[in-house]
Amino acid sequence: MLSAFFFILAAVAAGLWWFERRQRLAAQAAHQAELTALKAAHAAAQEDQHQRLEALLDSMVEGLVVLDPVGRITLSNRAAENLFGFSRLMIGGTLLEAVRNHEVAALATRLTKEPVILDHELRLEGATHRILQINGAALTDTSGGRAGAVLVFHDLTRLRELEGARQDFVANVSHELRTPLSLIKSAAETLIDGAKADPVALERLLAIIDRHADRLTLLIDDLLLLAKLDSGRIALNLQPCGARTAVQQALDDLAPKAATRAMRLENLLPDGLLVLADPDRLSQVLSNLVDNGIKYGRACGVVSVSGRALGNGRVELCVRDDGPGIPAEAKNRVFERFYRVDKARSREQGGTGLGLAIVKHVVLAHGGEVRVESEVGQGAAFYFTMPAAPEAR
Ligand code: ADP
Repeated sequence: MLSAFFFILAAVAAGLWWFERRQRLAAQAAHQAELTALKAAHAAAQEDQHQRLEALLDSMVEGLVVLDPVGRITLSNRAAENLFGFSRLMIGGTLLEAVRNHEVAALATRLTKEPVILDHELRLEGATHRILQINGAALTDTSGGRAGAVLVFHDLTRLRELEGARQDFVANVSHELRTPLSLIKSAAETLIDGAKADPVALERLLAIIDRHADRLTLLIDDLLLLAKLDSGRIALNLQPCGARTAVQQALDDLAPKAATRAMRLENLLPDGLLVLADPDRLSQVLSNLVDNGIKYGRACGVVSVSGRALGNGRVELCVRDDGPGIPAEAKNRVFERFYRVDKARSREQGGTGLGLAIVKHVVLAHGGEVRVESEVGQGAAFYFTMPAAPEAR
């Protein structure tokens, strides 16, 4: 009897132990699962945060590099990688390894002594010439200890180029304005000094004043138009224009000038070719190109204008002459303001040096493209595209 009682007691105790163990194991497993889920959520949150930080840094225009206290890269953005041509694989390497520039590496070292570096300008020479402005700051941890440094690189190359172009432009404009002004001034002085008493000299000097005043007006008109085109302030009055009619108008206007050089003007445009353009601007492009053909083409030669639909919603027009052409090295430059292949000839012809720059900007404003094809001695052909008017598509 007693043994049966002990047996039951032992069985109950074993049952309780087993039950309690199962409970404990289940609780442990649940705890483990909760821990794993928490860890996974934490890792996902960290990854999410990292990706957000990376996207944020990559959206910056400035290059950014973060260094640890021993000068190894811990973080960088796409702009910095593009600037120096290193890949994200370089993270963990030294700054010098990544940027291969001793001056930049020295700046990082300087940050260990000086906590902030402002506006340090650096020129990167080599295949990709760059002008960089660098700002840097030493990083500290919560206890004030050194935690590395952050360097920010601003690419000033384009800005400096634009500044240079602006200075050149101002110098060119001043020069171009001064030339006719000084001729007007000296003609006026000669008249004041007594030449007005001589009817022949009077007529000659007044003609000089008149011619150069016209030249100044032309120059100022061209400059104002270019400024408008540059700032995008020009409103285009787009409408379907018959290309053949527009060309004929330009040729008729310039026929007297062509006659002075015994040149023939040819309109080879087919009927029915329509472009979507501002008629005044289109006529300006055609006039400038035909005028150049007359000025620089061969005396007794031909300036012809042709055109065709390209089939991609564009129309291409071409103004061709049979003059001396344009040397290869000048072909890309003739559309620059004040660039002239032959300065003396351009001035003698009354050119402002802005005609092709205006052509280029007007064509670009219409969403078109302009180019020149030329071989020395074989004439020049200026091509430009304009959108086709809907009817012609
Ligand atoms: P410009 O007022 O000097 O004519 P443009 O901007 O119209 O100014 O032209 C720039 C330069 O390109 C000219 O000075 C000339 O040297 C060259 N050029 C333009 N058109 C022709 C052409 N059809 N044949 C040869 N050279 C040309």
